Amino acid sequence: MTTGLTLLGATGSIGASTLDVVGRHAARLRVFALTANRSADELLALCARHAPRYAVLSGVAEDAALRRRFAEHCRGTELLFGARALEDVVSHADCDVVMAAIVGASGLAPTIAAARAGKRVLLANKEALVMAGPFLMRAVREGGGALLPIDSEHNAIFQCLPQSGGAAAPAASAASVRRILLTASGGPFRAASPERLERVTPEEACAHPNWIMGRKISVDCATMMNKGLEVIEARWLFDVPAERIEVLIHPQSIVHSLVEYRDGSVIAQLSNPDMRVPIAHALGFPDRIESGAVPLDLTAIGRLSFERPDAARFPCLALAYAALRAGGTAPAVLNAANEIAVNAFLEGRLRYTAIPRVIERVLEVESARAAESLDGVLEADRRARRAAERSVAQLMGLAA
Ligand code: NAD
Ligand code: MG
Repeated sequence: MTTGLTLLGATGSIGASTLDVVGRHAARLRVFALTANRSADELLALCARHAPRYAVLSGVAEDAALRRRFAEHCRGTELLFGARALEDVVSHADCDVVMAAIVGASGLAPTIAAARAGKRVLLANKEALVMAGPFLMRAVREGGGALLPIDSEHNAIFQCLPQSGGAAAPAASAASVRRILLTASGGPFRAASPERLERVTPEEACAHPNWIMGRKISVDCATMMNKGLEVIEARWLFDVPAERIEVLIHPQSIVHSLVEYRDGSVIAQLSNPDMRVPIAHALGFPDRIESGAVPLDLTAIGRLSFERPDAARFPCLALAYAALRAGGTAPAVLNAANEIAVNAFLEGRLRYTAIPRVIERVLEVESARAAESLDGVLEADRRARRAAERSVAQLMGLAA
């Protein structure tokens, strides 16, 4: 029996790496559904190649002509439209594993639906966990499935923690674990001067030294908000408090993260920077399967270096820790404000250095409330987006 995979965000960077790994294991994995937001041509090309049972364009309304095109070019693929169809394909009885690789808050609803339906969820969409960590973790427990991290750092931590045998993420809350060390490359502006940062363009921010990724996460890596989101992600995935999660700059991106135990042992996971490594780990778990990544040659790399992050150059990191400590809806507010600010920057409406200013302002005006329900979190997300748009407009007015 092959495993049926639904790939949310199939046309993205994680989507491409996932399909590459899946293509190496046809006897084991079968593509059940592929989804994209609006890129119909790209999705059609993927469906012609992988022949899934369903394709979903979640950001497109019912379109008979498009449906006919898919029927004509793909063997037996039915095209569905709208965001609700994402929830339908992830909870379908013939879907066993869901790769959650939509970018941003839009990935939350289908990821929760997959968890509730008891599927094995492979989580790349960190924003879902940042917004609604306790709700997503509860959905996984109640659904009886599992959550496996795809983010390279969290996948590394998962591999460095004692394995319980099942696919549930092992807890780092045990007294035997002293600290989690999350590594970060420092991005393209690790050593940039304050004057240089004032002039950063979207193209420069998206040119990561070690990884090729979607544009939103690339900007997050440049500001280090990505690492801030990952601290929050680790808090929920491994049930570990913020004060036991530390960030370590490691420019070569070879050591993907480390776990320090109380006896002084530190266990790390290493590989070349290639997302197919964590993707293959999670798709094969608990077996080890071929990823296609080039084997690591430490003699060719020669040197691994580590340094502390510079708090002044990367204010987003402290903002994320503050939101995590404030708790409740604060991480959802942080995430929403960041999505709006990054989008405004990518569209040329906001300066790079104003991204943390927008987030800080929104965290001030949208003070943390208790996160009593998922609806409460979604309401906080909507309010924060509106506050962030106002803040962007104000800063644009100042710049004009
Ligand atoms: P990407 O921009 O390359 O792809 C995003 C995908 O999501 C596309 O298929 C797009 O169609 C879909 N999408 C976008 N907006 C949507 C919406 N509103 N509704 C439904 N679908 C939508 O992004 P990516 O780099 O592949 O990242 C995906 C997720 O994985 C992000 O959460 C990112 O933080 C995380 N992640 C990525 C990497 C990486 O190396 N790219 C590493 C770790 C974690
Ligand atoms: Mg990461």
